[in-house]
Amino acid sequence: MDLRALLREIYDFPKEGIVFLDITPLLGDGKAFHHAVDMMAARFADANPTKIVAAEARGFIFGAALAYKMRIGFVPVRKPGKLPYKTQSVTYDLEYGTDTLCMHEDAVLRGEKVLVVDDLLATGGTLKGVLKLVETFGAEIAGVGVLVELDFLNGKDSLNGYSVQSVVHVG
Ligand code: IMP
Repeated sequence: MDLRALLREIYDFPKEGIVFLDITPLLGDGKAFHHAVDMMAARFADANPTKIVAAEARGFIFGAALAYKMRIGFVPVRKPGKLPYKTQSVTYDLEYGTDTLCMHEDAVLRGEKVLVVDDLLATGGTLKGVLKLVETFGAEIAGVGVLVELDFLNGKDSLNGYSVQSVVHVG
């Protein structure tokens, strides 16, 4: 199945000069969405993670579907002020400025095997932040799974040392 054909390029979104890859045509196609989640799960069949961790908002789509498929728990990572219980946070660098992400302090246990998931890997800044947060809990990273990797941005280089698996490569 040609999943790449279901990714739509949107020019000048969210800012002028940026070509945004829109995944909603793929999400709206039941067979394609199902196939994409199955492919992500297959990449980690031998990793035996005990939790999936994913950041809002689009990370939730694949993170939750994958957790259901793999019959393991799902942990949401959110922007400050969104999670109701006590949180642990991390502030990480982005291309312009910094960002902060939060997770419930009891969401992941020391030594747990965590699979970190997102819809798309661009520069790697977001995933790096999530990984940093998960590692503050003393968890082991079983791998990093994304639907799409923008190869030309070399985001994988900044995730050196992790097993990064991408279903669709856009070069
Ligand atoms: P990074 O932090 O530069 O790797 O950007 C990845 C994050 O930004 C992911 O959470 C994506 O949801 C979002 N993102 C960045 N570029 C795109 C895009 O072209 N399409 C969809 N999401 C994107």
